[in-house]
Parts: sequence; C-alpha cells; structure tokens
Amino acid sequence: MTTPADVRALYVHLPFCRARCGYCDFYSELYRADAVQPLLNALSTELAGYAAQVELALETVFIGGGTPTVLPAEALQPLLHICTRAARGRPSEFTVEANPATIDAGKAAVLVSAGVNRVSMGAQSFDPAELSVLERTHRPEQVRETIAICRSAGVRAVSLDLIFGIPGQSLQSWLFSLDQAIALDPEHISCYGLTYEPGTRLHARAQAGQVTPVDPDLEADMYEAAIDRLAGAGFAQYEISNFARPGQQCRHNLTYWRNEPYLGVGPSAAGYLAGERYKNVADVAEYVRRIAAGADPREETERLPPQKCAGETVMLALRTVEGLSRARFAERFGQDPLTWFAQRNGGSAIAQNVANGLLEVTPEAIRLTRRGMLVANDVMAEFLE
Ligand code: SF4
Repeated sequence: MTTPADVRALYVHLPFCRARCGYCDFYSELYRADAVQPLLNALSTELAGYAAQVELALETVFIGGGTPTVLPAEALQPLLHICTRAARGRPSEFTVEANPATIDAGKAAVLVSAGVNRVSMGAQSFDPAELSVLERTHRPEQVRETIAICRSAGVRAVSLDLIFGIPGQSLQSWLFSLDQAIALDPEHISCYGLTYEPGTRLHARAQAGQVTPVDPDLEADMYEAAIDRLAGAGFAQYEISNFARPGQQCRHNLTYWRNEPYLGVGPSAAGYLAGERYKNVADVAEYVRRIAAGADPREETERLPPQKCAGETVMLALRTVEGLSRARFAERFGQDPLTWFAQRNGGSAIAQNVANGLLEVTPEAIRLTRRGMLVANDVMAEFLE
C-alpha cells in the first residue's frame, strides 16, 4: 500500500536523560544502557513500517528528546544509521539535540560522519544560580567547550536554547546570558519563556511558595529586549521564540509551523500524516512491547475536520514572522482566510484583532504585530474556537 503523503520531515524521539530537570514536562526517563538496544530495534521496525506505507522524501531529520547525545558513540551510530536509511542518504538538514558536556570528540565524529550538520544545545542560562533553579546539571563554561568540540569535528550549524523568566532572574542577568550566547557565535538561538507545567517539580515548588515566578511585565520586557539584542547582533526573528542568522532557520520546525505532514517515531513522538495527527505511547517499555508484538504504538489519533485543520493552520502560521500565506491557505481550503474566518469563529477573529493592533493583514499574509506577539496565545486561541 502506498499513500503519496510526500513526507519531507522525520522526528525521532530519544527519551533518555542523565537527570530530570525540574521544569521539564517532555517525556523522558533516566538513561539505562540495557534499554537502548531494544529501543533501537523498535525504532527501526516502526520506521520500516512507515517506509512501506508512505512515500518518504525526507529533507529534514530531527532527533530530539530527552538527550539523544546521552547515548554512547556505539549506540549513536546505529541510531543515525536508522535515520539515514529511511532518508535514503543524508538529509539536507540533520539535527540532533544535545546538552552541554554530553558530546566528546568520539561522539562528535560519529555525528558528523553520519551527516549530522546541526546540533541544538540546551544552554538555558549562563548564570550558575539560574541553572540551579532549573535543576540543570551542567556548568556555563561547558556550553563553550561542547560547541568547540562540535565545531572542530565539522558540525556546520549550532543552535542554543535559552530560557527567560527564571525565578530570581533580572533583566540584566537575562541580557548577560544573551550576550554570552551571542559571543559563542551560534547560527541560531531559541528563547523560551519559562512555563510552570503541572506535574513538574518546579510547578510544585511554585505552588508551595518555594520559588516566585517573575513579574509578567518583567518577563515581557525580557522578551522584547531579546528581540532587539538579537536583531542588533544579526539574528533575525523568524518565529515567536526563534532567531537565526541569514539562511539558518530551522527548516524542520518550519514544516510544523506550515502545518505540513511529518513523521514522528519513538515513545511519545507525535506525527501528522495524510490529514491525521497521532501520538505514540509515552513509555519506553510499552512502546518496545507493542512494536515487538506487531501492535500499534500510537495511543492517540485524530483526523482533523476542515474547520479544525484551518484553525490549526492559522494558529501555527501565526507563530512565524512571515505569518499565514493567504495564497497557501486559499489553495488548501478553497477560500481566502479573510472570507473563511468572516463566516466562522464568531466572525471577528481577524477583524477584531486587526482593530486592536494585534494582527496585520497585507495582500500576501496575515501576521502578528510586535504587540500581538506578546499575547500570541490569546490571539491564536480565537482561531480554534
Ligand atoms: S529539559 Fe532536556 S535534559 Fe532536562 S529533563 Fe527535559 S529533556 Fe531532559
């Protein structure tokens, strides 16, 4: 059976970490050497199953987690091989997520020789006290050391993740972290506001009054300061949280924001194929068991009706600075978005936000204004009602 899904992006979830950070609600488990081979076998089987059903034309592969580089070099190699086999060669953008101090020269050589050309590293902060609030296990100087290892092995692009709004953080210390990151000369920087996800230790500590979230006005100032500081250093914002040097945008993530199909494999991985969203079971042992038994590893599937698909397409596109392409929307849903949303979602989702200065409409696109970016979630929600 072949479905011409024309899938150009593959996400692989590698759910192991050295330690669990207090704020994180991604699915991952503590690294166990004996769990690796069964997981690699299952990933290989799951991917082979898709390759037999859908037409893969993979241009981007993103291995996330977890911390994929917690694997030893001898396990990283087969993991990367599973991906390049599915891509029938080296994808043009091949990203691996990493944490500082989890890549040595041997692992870097394995990554580069398999075609990995982008490493996305969780730096988060360059202030030791802030790293400790986040329960990160690395020291700031290990970011520089790990980048140096990657660069000397031949990794073409480095992205750094930073977090603002950390309890105890000031505008000054946030700018210090930004400047430290810029000084390391990465191609790409992501800046995320800290969130308090239910079920995390950080959330529990906030509930117990042991940490105090930063004032929302200060957090907004931090975000705006980042946009300006990064622009001044040559990083153009192309998405709410993402900034890149020219030509260095993450093409894999652009696939998500354009609401195009992508394949996700591994425990807890999500995917979007032939109009259906799915999510795999978030449990390594159960995932391995299901794959070995020939059972479906997905625990959620949802076929999106056109109304919901259109709303999600707008929501995702509004994350980007380019915004929603009116032509692409009309091609996909048969109507210009102004017409479509004048008849749905209460009729005011676009007009009211334009009147409030949160959205702007051009002949080509609909996008958030800078003020709209500060309340992006509220604006987006109106397209999903
Ligand atoms: S933030 Fe990253 S390193 Fe920390 S627990 Fe989550 S996935 Fe693991």
